[in-house]
Amino acid sequence: MAGKPATIPVTVGVLALQGDFREHLEVLRSLGATAVPVRRAEELTAIDGLVIPGGESTVIDKLSRAFGVAEPVKQAIAAGMPVYGTCAGLIMIADRVLDAIEGQQSFGGLDVAVRRNAFGSQTESFEVELRMPVLGDPPVHAVFIRAPVVETVGDQVTALASLADGRVVAVQQGNLLGTSFHPEITGDTRFHQYFLNRVRATAFRS
Ligand code: GLN
Repeated sequence: MAGKPATIPVTVGVLALQGDFREHLEVLRSLGATAVPVRRAEELTAIDGLVIPGGESTVIDKLSRAFGVAEPVKQAIAAGMPVYGTCAGLIMIADRVLDAIEGQQSFGGLDVAVRRNAFGSQTESFEVELRMPVLGDPPVHAVFIRAPVVETVGDQVTALASLADGRVVAVQQGNLLGTSFHPEITGDTRFHQYFLNRVRATAFRS
């Protein structure tokens, strides 16, 4: 596939069932993309990539199944649609979820095991500077809110950033990107730009 030149506009969906989808829509629009909320299966056919926001993965899971959007999202991921998940969104694209509630499901696609609420109930949120080589300098100011960590990664997965203790908090596997933290609330648009570059290079809808 040749991919779409950067000048051709792309449309990115943001799964808008629960969580901080408005923030993602704003960042994507500020970068020149057309960004649309996605709540129904039909809306998936009109997008070149999908962002799954932070929020609560158990709720996003339940609502996505209730709205009939879970299966179509799984199929789109399997077909190669670029997806970026932040925090709960990372949990939703993980193949394996540790400390899930009973019956909790994910869309999967990303060959990792993530642990929910990995920093314990004492640590609701914290912020650190993270070195992320794919984004260059300066380091990313990363905000973690009841965040998961990536505990195991498959052969095809690249760790993009780790905490000082070595725990992985940003990953990529082909068109799937995930971060434990929330770039959509810090004003640092580099991660969304990185994702958009991936979307533009993919020609998913053609
Ligand atoms: N702890 C939440 C979950 O399990 C994720 C928190 C977040 O997205 N900020 O889904």
